[in-house]
Amino acid sequence: MAKNQSSGNIAGVVEVGNVLVHLDILTEYFCCDIEKCNGQCCEEGDAGAPVTLDEVAEIENSLDTIWSQLGAQAQSVIDCQGVAYTDVEGELVTSIVNGRNCVFRGPHGCLLPQKPISCHLYPIREKQLGPMVGLNYNRWDICKAATVLGEQKRLRVYEFLKEPLIRCFGEEWYKELESIVDELLDKKVIH
Ligand code: SF4
Repeated sequence: MAKNQSSGNIAGVVEVGNVLVHLDILTEYFCCDIEKCNGQCCEEGDAGAPVTLDEVAEIENSLDTIWSQLGAQAQSVIDCQGVAYTDVEGELVTSIVNGRNCVFRGPHGCLLPQKPISCHLYPIREKQLGPMVGLNYNRWDICKAATVLGEQKRLRVYEFLKEPLIRCFGEEWYKELESIVDELLDKKVIH
């Protein structure tokens, strides 16, 4: 395997730098089909999207620009509790309306100038594991059409999410991931 010293392959996971990537991300097909799903990931669920403190600050800075596009309910929630809150799992997440819809959901998608990285990376979910970061493929019924379109386009999860993965981990990291995928395909470890 063409790899640097910090890359490897253990059961179900490949290690790229300090990131553990689940094999599903390399093998499953995915391509969002917004016409079919209508971007339900911004509406469904019982908590907002995970955000970092830096992202909260960025969102607060963009509020003046997007305020007039927000619905009255969203404005009221933001006035009361701010752009984010801590959910039952202790995670900082974007504020929601009616216990489910992200306050930044507009009629044609996200109103924020820059989506939080957790939204940009979806259906990959990121988790801190001590000094390592774990990446998992999160399956959700509402994304069924994305698996069909992904298969038609022969686009795997990691290919569909190339841009946000580079945003998170950098170009070099992504190239290393691609070389590991090529090697796993050559050795028929994945198909
Ligand atoms: S993540 Fe799922 S629900 Fe959201 S836009 Fe993609 S396919 Fe649709």
